[in-house]
Amino acid sequence: MNGFAPDSAAARGLALCHVCYLATPVREERCPRCASRLHLRLKESIQRTWALTFAAVLLYFPANMLPVLRVESFAGDQQNTIMGGVIEFWQHRDYPVAIIIFAASVLIPVLKIVSIAALCLAAHSGRRPREMTRLYRVTEFVGRWSMVDIFVVAILVGVVQLGSTLSIHPGAGALSFAAVVILTMFAAMSFDPRLIWDAAAHAPSDSSPSH
Ligand SMILES: [Zn+2]
Repeated sequence: MNGFAPDSAAARGLALCHVCYLATPVREERCPRCASRLHLRLKESIQRTWALTFAAVLLYFPANMLPVLRVESFAGDQQNTIMGGVIEFWQHRDYPVAIIIFAASVLIPVLKIVSIAALCLAAHSGRRPREMTRLYRVTEFVGRWSMVDIFVVAILVGVVQLGSTLSIHPGAGALSFAAVVILTMFAAMSFDPRLIWDAAAHAPSDSSPSH
């Protein structure tokens, strides 16, 4: 069993420690420097990434269809979905707030899910490894800012609380939304970008004479 790219360290039996980045023969099983377990590739990376992404897609629907906020005020109870909140801020001419919430809560999660799915497909097909590695870097970078979405909701709560509001409760949509953010973060983390190059080395359309 050897699906590794011929010019990779894995093909030479070398693994990089995930913790301290020391390159070590994988037969040692543990890193001689920091005693972490060695793997040539993340275990079941593609399967895990697909599973987490699929779960995120499922939860994306309740996250957007259920109310994220329930506001009690003198005017009565009011429930808001994410898009409902965006529309309301837009109608009140709070354009920057509306745009930030739309980007962080609607656009970025969708783009993240689409790019993770594209990466998984690339790890199967080995197509366009260079572009896909770039996409991986962007996805990883965006992933670091995933929590911005949650902060936006927190800021939103703060903004609303300044009004004639009695109390604010998170709705069921907020829980689903937090789950989507966490699942996409784990999906990006469980993806091993080296699989793109392993697949590329064995792709029939590739110009490299690897077969
Ligand atoms: Zn180590």
